[in-house]
Amino acid sequence: MANEGAPNLDSETRNYVDLLEKKLQEIEAAIVNDSDVSEPTVSDDAAESSEERAEQDSLIDNHRRERFEIIRAIKWLKEKGNVCYVCGGPIEKQRREVYLPAMTCLAHLREEIPEIISE
Ligand SMILES: [Zn+2]
Repeated sequence: MANEGAPNLDSETRNYVDLLEKKLQEIEAAIVNDSDVSEPTVSDDAAESSEERAEQDSLIDNHRRERFEIIRAIKWLKEKGNVCYVCGGPIEKQRREVYLPAMTCLAHLREEIPEIISE
């Protein structure tokens, strides 16, 4: 095996990356299921009638949002480590336990994080 892929991540950061990658797989599986039911199309007037449809759409949105946040967090962890986007301080364990793809420490819980990656 070549000495690549895992740079200088400490074990804590590595652990979060692993957890997030697992979570990402779950989300992607869920997104595939959602899409089987209804792939969102440009049909504003046509299919607006049912509440179920709206519910389904918001579920897909949630999954996509979550997927985006997980990918962003993985990228951040790999590049910068387990640090707050705002102050650069360590992100507390309690913070991760509540919200795994956290980008900020408890003190900066409510800061807006720009969309670092665009995928
Ligand atoms: Zn902070």
